Amino acid sequence: MLVKQILKEKSDDGVVTVPPGTTVSATAETLSARRIGAVIVSSDGKTPLGIVSERDIVRELGRRGASCLPEMVDSIMTRELVTCGIDHTADDVMAQMTAGRFRHVPVMEGDEMVGLISIGDVVKARLSELAMEKDALEGMIKGF
Ligand code: AMP
Repeated sequence: MLVKQILKEKSDDGVVTVPPGTTVSATAETLSARRIGAVIVSSDGKTPLGIVSERDIVRELGRRGASCLPEMVDSIMTRELVTCGIDHTADDVMAQMTAGRFRHVPVMEGDEMVGLISIGDVVKARLSELAMEKDALEGMIKGF
């Protein structure tokens, strides 16, 4: 299955972003309110400057306690983003996630971010592919 098909099946509209300069505490509020595990830091909603996941926040809380909460999220975000394109496959994205040990991959079309794929989206896509393959194989076996 292609990334563009996965994006089409997602019910949410667009990528949740926070602008640079947002505090760690406000970012945690966004993650909680939107029930998501990561946000993209972006000034215009289209150009990703970095990603902050719940793991980054928990790591800082563990290291430094609540003193990190009023700081800017820019100081804890991951700047070197691994991204994918709309014509990549679910298997490509799964391989990126496995190699990089992360669960979120922004989708780019040229310089513009057009979506975000989570590990949950990839697993869901793979399961539906497997179900279709199973039905097709059963159909072939029963046909004989
Ligand atoms: P996650 O498993 O996605 O919650 O993220 C684990 C760590 O990887 C955190 O430090 C994130 O900032 C970082 N991270 C998440 N997604 C990406 C990505 N696509 N490219 C680079 N780093 C990422």
